Amino acid sequence: MTVSRKPKLAVWKFASCDGCQLSLLDCEDELLALAGEVEIAYFLEATRGTVKGPYDLSLVEGSVTTAHDAKRIQQVRRSSRHLVTIGACATAGGIQALKNFADVDDFVAAVYASPGYISTLATSTPISAHVTVDYELHGCPINKRQLLEVITSFLHGRRPGIPSTSVCMECKRRGTVCVMVAHGTPCLGPVTHAGCGALCPAYDRGCYGCFGPMETPNTRSLIRQLDVLGMQERGIERVFRTFNVQAFEEARNDG
Ligand code: SF4
Ligand code: SF4
Repeated sequence: MTVSRKPKLAVWKFASCDGCQLSLLDCEDELLALAGEVEIAYFLEATRGTVKGPYDLSLVEGSVTTAHDAKRIQQVRRSSRHLVTIGACATAGGIQALKNFADVDDFVAAVYASPGYISTLATSTPISAHVTVDYELHGCPINKRQLLEVITSFLHGRRPGIPSTSVCMECKRRGTVCVMVAHGTPCLGPVTHAGCGALCPAYDRGCYGCFGPMETPNTRSLIRQLDVLGMQERGIERVFRTFNVQAFEEARNDG
């Protein structure tokens, strides 16, 4: 008689705030159902008990900012059948990638009283810069419904049904009046990946770009509009330099 085993799920943390791992814990009711379908083999945010790999699905949160982590991600990849990165840190380097555009020693000196204890690379890089990634789930933090969709799809061997449209599509679907057209509020929605449900525009605020650039974003056109709305060059630069700074910089260079 063959005994079928549950697929092993592992959750790994690199440089991050843990917010995306918390999205998994935040699933509450669905988490119990998930625990019935998979063996949660490695998830230090939830339990100290660990089960050795290999793992069927690894979720990786966080970016690579140390030489130690650059080696560790290689081990994670080797022990994982599928590897999915979750959140802006893992998919784009996160807000800590601001150091990619400055001198890291200046940041270290400004933040730490005893910088002698700090060991860091000069850059923060996404996981895909180091190993092959099977799927990237965007957001800061990620959307828990999308996370469940990604886990379910990998367990059943199908492609995740995650839209690659912009936040503007989500505004239209929920019937939100466009804050940029109606009130002249600067908004990154036209170039930002959908996923949050257009939360900020629903509360009369412009999109901050938490989900990173959508596929083929027309940043040049949006920058022209931000200029028309009176945003200065320095302001335009800053509006793109948040959680997905590296990805938006690349999108702007490509555009
Ligand atoms: S993507 Fe945002 S919420 Fe997720 S770990 Fe990074 S900083 Fe935290
Ligand atoms: S508010 Fe922003 S995201 Fe919504 S439709 Fe207008 S530009 Fe697009």
